[in-house]
Amino acid sequence: MSKNENKGTAVITGASSGIGAVYADRLAGQGYDLVLVARRADRLEELAEKLRYAYRSKVSVISADLADDEDVRRVERAVSTDDSVTLLVNNAGLGGAQVVATADADAAERMIKVNVVALTRLTRAVLPGLLARNRGAIVNIASVLAFDTSFGGIYSGTKAYVVNFTEALQREVAGTHVQVQVVLPGATRTDFWESAGSDINAVPQEIVMAADDLVDAALVGLARGEAVTVPGLADPAKLDTFLGARQAFFGSLHADKPAARYAA
Ligand code: NAP
Repeated sequence: MSKNENKGTAVITGASSGIGAVYADRLAGQGYDLVLVARRADRLEELAEKLRYAYRSKVSVISADLADDEDVRRVERAVSTDDSVTLLVNNAGLGGAQVVATADADAAERMIKVNVVALTRLTRAVLPGLLARNRGAIVNIASVLAFDTSFGGIYSGTKAYVVNFTEALQREVAGTHVQVQVVLPGATRTDFWESAGSDINAVPQEIVMAADDLVDAALVGLARGEAVTVPGLADPAKLDTFLGARQAFFGSLHADKPAARYAA
């Protein structure tokens, strides 16, 4: 890929570690300039310096807590007024298998704010510019746990939101040159597990993916124009079957009267 080809600027949230840091490396390698967002400014600066040196990219850093309303608005202002933005990777996220009855309510709210609210607001901030320029993409990082609640409903619920929200966005951008992708990682070896109070080494290692492999696969999916990318799914027909069954099921949910089995 020629560095002279103007790829524009990629905004990556949660770029200070794990999956986001790999996105930063790969996208700089593809010729994007970068805006890196996370709380840990020192780690962002260190990564930015490395990428400027390795790829000659323009890299700027925004230190922001995406659970903080004012900080989110500050990032929104920065990205919505930057006409060079061509890609938003909504990757920042946190997890934790909380039982609702004993969950720390403030921690649960922070999770929802980062995983759901910030993702929504940043998409809202960037999308009009992408549509006006008829160019670019939004990548939302969900999780396979969008389809499984056995590790708790709060995290799973946030990621189910990301899947549904992104699917609806895909309808909104249909017919334009703006692309929207949702990525569903399975267990991926990053700091995420320790931050969530879990141990990645307790997970069967045959289902744990390296962050490099996950991001490389997701970028192949993006380049192919995939709407839903599940790097760990070997047989894509299973996804088509699942989504098709869901659509058919939805079609059977409406009637002008309650079903006969609900007769009092
Ligand atoms: P990670 O290494 O812990 O990275 C999470 C990133 O999110 C960090 O850069 C962190 O930066 C940022 N972040 C967390 N809270 C934030 C806040 N309040 N404000 C701003 N940034 C915040 O974990 P990861 O695995 O790369 O996670 C990336 C995404 O993948 C998440 O959305 C996660 O849900 C998803 N995912 C991960 C797995 C997995 O097994 N690892 C599986 C499925 C989905 P700071 O701490 O510097 O703020």
